[in-house]
Amino acid sequence: MLTEARILIVDDLPENLLALDALIREPGIAVHQASSADQALALLLQHEFAMAILDVQMPGMNGFELAELMRGTERTRHIPIVFVSAAGRELNYAFRGYESGAVDFLHKPLDPYAVKGKVTVFVDLWRQRRAVKTQLEALEEARRQQQVLLEELQSTQSELQRAVRMRDDFMSMVSHEMRTPLNTLFLEAQVRKMHLSRGNTKAFEPAQLRAMVERDERHVQAMVRLIDDMLDVTRLQRGTLSILPKRFDLAVLLRRIVENFGTQAEGAGCALGLRAPDTLDVELDEFRIEQVVANLLTNAFRYGPGKPVEVLLEDSPRGVRIDVRDQGRGIAPRDQTRIFEQFERAVDNKVSAGLGLGLYIVRQIVESHGGTIGVVSVPGEGSTFTVLLPKLARQPVEAAPN
Ligand code: ADP
Repeated sequence: MLTEARILIVDDLPENLLALDALIREPGIAVHQASSADQALALLLQHEFAMAILDVQMPGMNGFELAELMRGTERTRHIPIVFVSAAGRELNYAFRGYESGAVDFLHKPLDPYAVKGKVTVFVDLWRQRRAVKTQLEALEEARRQQQVLLEELQSTQSELQRAVRMRDDFMSMVSHEMRTPLNTLFLEAQVRKMHLSRGNTKAFEPAQLRAMVERDERHVQAMVRLIDDMLDVTRLQRGTLSILPKRFDLAVLLRRIVENFGTQAEGAGCALGLRAPDTLDVELDEFRIEQVVANLLTNAFRYGPGKPVEVLLEDSPRGVRIDVRDQGRGIAPRDQTRIFEQFERAVDNKVSAGLGLGLYIVRQIVESHGGTIGVVSVPGEGSTFTVLLPKLARQPVEAAPN
């Protein structure tokens, strides 16, 4: 559909306006009349015009003065102007602004063909300019959309690269972590075979045998934990890690965990203490809560060997609070959030080998119960991990997939 072109006609005599209007009015053209320069300026502010036809001789501001004002304003600078004058040709150059836009002249009495011809030329020009402008805008919009897409693509690409890097790191860490206990078990088996072949029964006396079994157990447990962690992460990603709440005594559970961790605490040289009420009934997933505390304790021994570790259990109106406090290496403020993410570690493998999954799993379990976990830590002085849990988990809940 043709866009309507607006034409401004300015003349102080109403009969001239009427005649001109009748001459140029046609479908696709809207004629706006002004009987003074002031009226014309008001209309110029309101609408976008394809051209203006100005009577030169008007009382007050004349046509040339109005044209000068139009050329001085950005909005109206480029509107083609046709002057209508009754005087001779020498007036044609009295307007000095002609260099900044199209200017033309008509003489009274008006020749209908000349008027229509000029209107057609300027209206066509205006339509072409508009079409070009629309195309340019469309082009600019397409370029902008392309830029947005490109940026999205680049960010997806770097995310992908990071994911691939993380997977590679993960594979090499898993292999390393599995190899260490396996190698030890393999070596132990070789040594035992050698003792057997030499008939060295002393190597298998009760005390030795017990130590052997305990060592084997530790290595097997390390591997089992690793595999469990990997399975949990897979379940979390699929959203199938289930939380099955049931009633139990959290104080009793914590006493049992602390007791079970006695040997590990001793091995790490940590005095392990517990402060808890006699009893504290909750309705949570007991197995998963045990997993949370066990993970936090293992970390406390791993990152704070030789220093006391304390577990605190508190009942509060907001729910239950479990603190696991160590006096170990601590965590720098910049790492305190990211350590709860998958594969994120704040130490390198020389300090301790690990997959950076433990705290991620812990956070997912706690959040699946509707709880929160946080850490307060001072590097060099120690860390306190605080778990806040409702007494009653929303049940049965599934951990949200990542
Ligand atoms: P991993 O111990 O296998 O690296 P985690 O997810 O359990 O994985 O821990 C992530 C990181 O958080 C660790 O690598 C370590 O840098 C830091 N961290 C966790 N617990 C402690 C702690 N008690 N003291 C100091 N740093 C800790």
